Amino acid sequence: MPEDTEVPRHMIAHTAHGLPVMAHDEDGWCVAVDPTRMNCTIYAQRPGVCRAFQMGSRDCRDVREAYFHRYDEAELPPE
Ligand code: SF4
Repeated sequence: MPEDTEVPRHMIAHTAHGLPVMAHDEDGWCVAVDPTRMNCTIYAQRPGVCRAFQMGSRDCRDVREAYFHRYDEAELPPE
């Protein structure tokens, strides 16, 4: 969003329609996530959409539930 002036430019990508979004790594995670500590490395500069996302909200619980079940449908290798 226009008011998101603090987000480091090297962490911004653009959609096929030219909309700026947080870039993602090869695993699909936001590039600002520290994978060892699972926290935001630009917390004070994070975009407005991240500030609006409320921990423990319905959306938050839905994402956590989907993450928890992410491998439920995957085929496991034979033992
Ligand atoms: S709060 Fe936003 S910018 Fe920070 S890691 Fe999460 S998605 Fe990325």
